[in-house]
Amino acid sequence: MLPVPRRCANRRRAGAGARREEGGDRYRPVMDWPRPSARTALRRALLLRCPRCGSTGIFTWRLAMTDPCPRCGLVFERTEGYWLGAVTINLMVAMVAVLGVVLGAMVLTWPDVAWTAITVAGAAVGLVVPILFHPHSRMLWIALERQFRSRSEPYA
Ligand SMILES: [Zn+2]
Repeated sequence: MLPVPRRCANRRRAGAGARREEGGDRYRPVMDWPRPSARTALRRALLLRCPRCGSTGIFTWRLAMTDPCPRCGLVFERTEGYWLGAVTINLMVAMVAVLGVVLGAMVLTWPDVAWTAITVAGAAVGLVVPILFHPHSRMLWIALERQFRSRSEPYA
């Protein structure tokens, strides 16, 4: 269940018909969306939902992103080069995954370490994890970057 902004909650109490007459929450102005807590924003980001409204459908395909959010209109790419933070997150996750596989395999096969197999497995993880984690890294970056902005600024 998505959190209902104050203005919307008042309308809901007034009756569902009132919401429908005004077009539901599809065209709500940007300022009407409450700032999500850090925990909520990060949870939504990991589930590939919009950090602000919790809407799905941000990624039409794993590498193709809808910008702005189709529900609340949150513009994801704020400036040119914005995704550098997401690339950094993705790189860090991939490095930890490769390191985990390599060290784990070394520990499990010690003292007869299968270097060739470990190298192939590490390379495979290093190629696959960044592709699979790409949408999560973008959404995480959006949630983190906006969470660290001043509370006086709108969550936009
Ligand atoms: Zn949204």
